Amino acid sequence: MWSAPGEVSRLVLPRIVAEAIEGEARAALPRECCGLLVGTAAGGEASAVRAVPSRNLADDPATRFEIDPALRLAAQREAREAGLLVLGHYHSHPAGPARPSARDLAGALEGGLVWLILGLEGGRASFAAFQARRDRREPSLAPLSLLAAERP
Ligand SMILES: [Zn+2]
Repeated sequence: MWSAPGEVSRLVLPRIVAEAIEGEARAALPRECCGLLVGTAAGGEASAVRAVPSRNLADDPATRFEIDPALRLAAQREAREAGLLVLGHYHSHPAGPARPSARDLAGALEGGLVWLILGLEGGRASFAAFQARRDRREPSLAPLSLLAAERP
């Protein structure tokens, strides 16, 4: 279903995209927000172009997230038509750090997907990015370097 990017080592996150996600995360408190990251990938670098917010369909949205599968399909189609990729997804940790939780790790089954996590621990926003690796026996999320960028 996903056409995930190949292996990358860096995620470029334009400020305007970061601000949109942070606004969404704060509006969703005390629940997690989630959505899709659409952009490009080349030369080991993924570049976010926009965030596509999803409803959080998880049973317990305060501690987990589940992206609307219909949104995934629609975003995938629209991205392809625009020459872009669904790079992966983002979600927030309403009171925790920008680190994958045990549940996140257990759910990182789709290799190649970029995971962007926004931690709001203590009310301060911090982002961290990872990529699910399919080359391990256990699911794993490899840290990516994160470059904040002004939109060109
Ligand atoms: Zn999480």
